[in-house]
Amino acid sequence: MAACAYCGTTILFGGIKDDDLRFCNDECFENGYALVIARSVSDNVVKREANKIYNGACPKCQGIGPVDVHVSHRVYSVLLYSSWSSIPNICCRSCGLKSQASNALFSLFCGWWGFPYGLIMTPIQIVRNIFGMARPPEEFAPSEKLENLVRIDLATQYIEEKSMPPPVNDV
Ligand SMILES: [Zn+2]
Ligand SMILES: [Zn+2]
Repeated sequence: MAACAYCGTTILFGGIKDDDLRFCNDECFENGYALVIARSVSDNVVKREANKIYNGACPKCQGIGPVDVHVSHRVYSVLLYSSWSSIPNICCRSCGLKSQASNALFSLFCGWWGFPYGLIMTPIQIVRNIFGMARPPEEFAPSEKLENLVRIDLATQYIEEKSMPPPVNDV
């Protein structure tokens, strides 16, 4: 039986076929396709773009960088339903801290009110924010996270423009 190439779910019937890959639905197809293209984007292009972002101005406050990925974590609960997410922000350290602090505070007020996940995820998301605030990304070079986001972003652009990435040895 086929498994979805993106999420790994077993496909009972239907799904989308692309060459020898199968996907369970449109969303997985798009994500999975971006991953396939992302793997073929050359490291040099990724590093060059990541460096440009790292050394550029912060997209949020226009302040000086270094600009990198600062992930903030939040959870909210409504009645008994809880929802949590981790949001990668490409910005300077001080914008990253602001976002982590405000999401920690948001979770502190809005996270608890679901059972059982609100009670479980609220402390986890708050601690994740505190860790993120206490531990800045690398000080000298773009982080792996930034390079990954750039890689997927480039892949998405190639797909939207329906062009193929430049050959791998292009510098
Ligand atoms: Zn899937
Ligand atoms: Zn900033």
